[in-house]
Amino acid sequence: MEWIELDGSRGEGGGQILRTALSLSMITGIPFAIERIRAGRRKPGLLRQHLTAVQAAAAVCGAQVEGAVPGSQRLRFQPGPIRGGDYAFAIGSAGSSTLVLQTVLPALWYADGPSTLRVSGGTHNPAAPPADFLIRCWQPLLQRMGVTLDIQLLRHGFYPAGGGEVLASTAPVTAWQPLQLESPGPLQRTRAIGVVSGVPAEIAKREMQRAASSLGPLDEELRVLPANEGPGNVLMVVLEYPELTELFSACGERGLPAETVADQAAREARHYRDSGAAVGEHLADQLLLPMALAGQGSFTTHRLSSHLHSNMEVIGKFLAVDMETREMAGCYRVELG
Ligand code: AMP
Repeated sequence: MEWIELDGSRGEGGGQILRTALSLSMITGIPFAIERIRAGRRKPGLLRQHLTAVQAAAAVCGAQVEGAVPGSQRLRFQPGPIRGGDYAFAIGSAGSSTLVLQTVLPALWYADGPSTLRVSGGTHNPAAPPADFLIRCWQPLLQRMGVTLDIQLLRHGFYPAGGGEVLASTAPVTAWQPLQLESPGPLQRTRAIGVVSGVPAEIAKREMQRAASSLGPLDEELRVLPANEGPGNVLMVVLEYPELTELFSACGERGLPAETVADQAAREARHYRDSGAAVGEHLADQLLLPMALAGQGSFTTHRLSSHLHSNMEVIGKFLAVDMETREMAGCYRVELG
């Protein structure tokens, strides 16, 4: 069989090119070789999160793999048949457990039976979807597309300690349902969820107040975790609409004022809210793969990210699906089919 050749330095040059390739290689049975893995990142090559994603993918389909060592910038992956079952993978650092989950789950939708997937590592990381995002935003849309999926956050994990855990149950998809997201509908509720572990609750309270001063009235939910799950802090702004839920987050860091953390999450939430588009930048690139598997779908978004473009490029190499982006009234419409 022809191997697909990929260049990991395309677009943002991050880990998503590799993760999408792993998912689609497992599903289509097409082997791939990738060079310059994560060449656009400060520490290029395979970090523990990416290595765990490769090992998890290999375990699920009995793949033959070359180059799966820390720091490697090239990998060859030859998949075998996908087997359902109960899997557990440990990243062994605060690397994002949600990104490992998102790599392997699509393959399990094509397995020979139901599966559970347990991944330990970070659950609320900068530059990755927080577990709450998967549960509140991504999962309900997948369920509408015909996917059986239940994701649970068992324990929070933050950078640098990690130690968090997520658990997903899923099953083979019997019939994909098309999903069209043109508009989110009228905003029903705005929440701010302030999470602290091993840092004063006052920090989260200040973040939530600051978010309210920027976004208007919102419901505040303070989540104080046991200190041994941290140290960690994250602010999540949750916008609930009839069609979907969006979530914008920012992680606290030593030396970063709570107000700066809150401003980051609130600014992103406001841009999205004021745009009228159905999905935000992150949900957009994360909906692309399931919609491509469904063979059709569409959404409007307020920003076309480099992640979206490079994901389209990788998907286009594995699947025969048309993907189009069109500008309309200050937003963009992405259509697959
Ligand atoms: P990469 O940078 O290639 O490792 O890919 C990161 C992935 O995480 C992309 O799918 C992003 O859309 C997603 N992501 C990054 N930050 C967030 C966030 N704050 N909320 C949700 N998803 C995110």
